[in-house]
Parts: sequence; C-alpha cells; structure tokens
Amino acid sequence: MTKTAVTVLGLGAMGTALASALLEAGHPTTVWNRSPGKASELIGAAEAATAAEAVAAGPVVIVCLSDHASVHQVLDPIGELAGRAVVNVTTTTPEQARELAVWAGKAGAVYLDGGIMAVPDMIGSPGASILYSGSAAVFADHRAVLEVWGTSRYVGVDPGLASLYDLALLSGMYVMFAGFLHGAAMVAPTGMTAVEFARMAAPWLAAMTGALAGFAAVVDNGDYTVPGQQSLAFSDLTDLIDAGRAQGIGTEMVDVVQRLIRRQVDAGHGAEGFARIIESIRAGA
Ligand code: NDP
Repeated sequence: MTKTAVTVLGLGAMGTALASALLEAGHPTTVWNRSPGKASELIGAAEAATAAEAVAAGPVVIVCLSDHASVHQVLDPIGELAGRAVVNVTTTTPEQARELAVWAGKAGAVYLDGGIMAVPDMIGSPGASILYSGSAAVFADHRAVLEVWGTSRYVGVDPGLASLYDLALLSGMYVMFAGFLHGAAMVAPTGMTAVEFARMAAPWLAAMTGALAGFAAVVDNGDYTVPGQQSLAFSDLTDLIDAGRAQGIGTEMVDVVQRLIRRQVDAGHGAEGFARIIESIRAGA
C-alpha cells in the first residue's frame, strides 16, 4: 500500500520524534527546520531548504514549533497552502488554535489541531496519546499517519478543543508536580532526600487517583451532600500549613487549596463533600 507523503516543520525534540516514527512506518517524509543540521539522524528523510519547499512536497503538513507566534512566522510567508492538510501539534491556547484554523482556511488548507499527551520518548508507542480537533475529514483521511505516533482521539470540530483538553490535563499534572515538590521541601530538613520522598510519594499519589472517579460522579451529579464523602470541614488544612511553616518553607501551594475550601465552608457548606471546591474554582477569584 502506498504510504502518504508527510512534511514535518520543526525538528526540535518532539518534531524529530514525530518524523522518526513516520520514517520507521515507511512514510516518505520531508523535513524542515529553521536552524540547519537537525535532520542528520533522520535516515531516509528529505531535508527541504525552505519551509515553502517542504510544504510543496506532500499533502499532509505537520507543524511542531515552539508556540503560536513561531507557527505564524513560518507559515505566513508561504501564504499559499492550497489542498494541504495542516496538522498543528504545536502547543497553543484554544483561541490561538481557532485563529490558526481560520487563517489556514483562508490560505486554502484544512486544519486539524493536535495536543500531544506524551514526551518524545513515548512517540511511536500506544502509551502516547494525542488529542485532535478541527477538521473531521483530515482526521479520518489521515488517521493512518496519526496512528503512527500513538493512540489518537478526535474530540470535536471546534479546533480549540484539543488544546483545551490538553491544557486542562496539564493543569492537573503541574499542580500534582508542585504538590510533590512541596512535600519534598517539607521533609528535606529531616535529611530525607527528594529521591527517597519520591519513592514514598509515587505509590501514594497513584493510589489517590482512584478517588478521581468518585469526585467526578459527585460533580456531575451536582449533589455534594451524598453520604460517604470526606467533608470540607474535615479537609481543613491548618495542621498541614502549620507543619510546613514549622519546617521553614513557603506554604503558597497548600494555601491555595485551603482558600478554596474556606470559601465553601464560610458559605455554609462545611458538612458537604470536598469535591465542592470546584464551585470555588468555577466562581473565580
Ligand atoms: P524544542 O524547543 O525542542 O523545539 C522547538 C522547535 O521550534 C525547533 O525546531 C525550533 O527551531 C523551532 N522554532 C522556534 N521558534 C521558531 C521560529 N520563530 N521560526 C521557526 N522555527 C522556530 O520544542 P519541542 O520539539 O519539545 O516542542 C515542540 C512543540 O511540541 C511545543 O509546542 C511543545 O509544547 C509541544 N510538546 C512538546 C512536548 C515535549 O515533551 N517536548 C510534549 C508535548 C507537546 P530551531 O531548531 O531553529 O530553534
């Protein structure tokens, strides 16, 4: 079976991993990078001298650059993208993805936005999950290309959705990482290394992800009074904050969670479930 020719713009860590997986799967692959010399390890790739030359090489153009501004810096001068399927996996905000979809449409292209939930080493394995939104036709027509990188999931026609879900998942990740580092700082004065703490924290946090589905059911149901939930009053973080201060560390990380809890307790919901802090978040500052 003839494999679709694919162009990859951007050979940073992620672009190189994407191009490498395409080559391994037998797709004729043309690559371009702003700074030359990045294609040397991509055996079998055709290296284009310019982005325009790379875009002319095939129907599918993968864009993997630093950010929204760099995507425009590369694509704007090309201008003409007639008949091209542009798959932009550069991390952008949802609004930026929507703007790029409109821009690409004016240039004659169809646009699919991607949110990569993986690090470069994971590309090419089913554990690499990539979210897509925008043109359903591009997703369907070129699914075989997209599946080369991992597990692909189409989340909707709004081009901003993949980015929104990507950033929502990253929000959970960053707060978890920061919480872990807060804990590591807390125990450090006792002589425990961060590596030792990580050994304790990783199984604990993994076990706690089991609670997510329960919180989610309560949130979707909208009833924070369902019996069996840990109450907001019980979740008071005063001891946790005092212990951090006694260890001589900053407590901003946990102060934030305490504020979200307090707002609900002060509004008279202390007996209701912890998941209710989502109402503090929804209501904003
Ligand atoms: P890198 O920093 O490794 O590479 C950035 C790439 O963008 C390089 O090819 C760089 O070219 C190019 N670039 C930056 N600015 C411009 C510009 N103005 N004009 C032309 N080219 C430009 O980043 P990654 O490859 O790691 O990430 C790429 C995208 O993938 C990002 O949006 C990132 O958020 C996303 N992503 C990355 C993940 C990761 O773990 N690495 C995970 C999930 C998503 P040059 O070599 O010339 O500097």
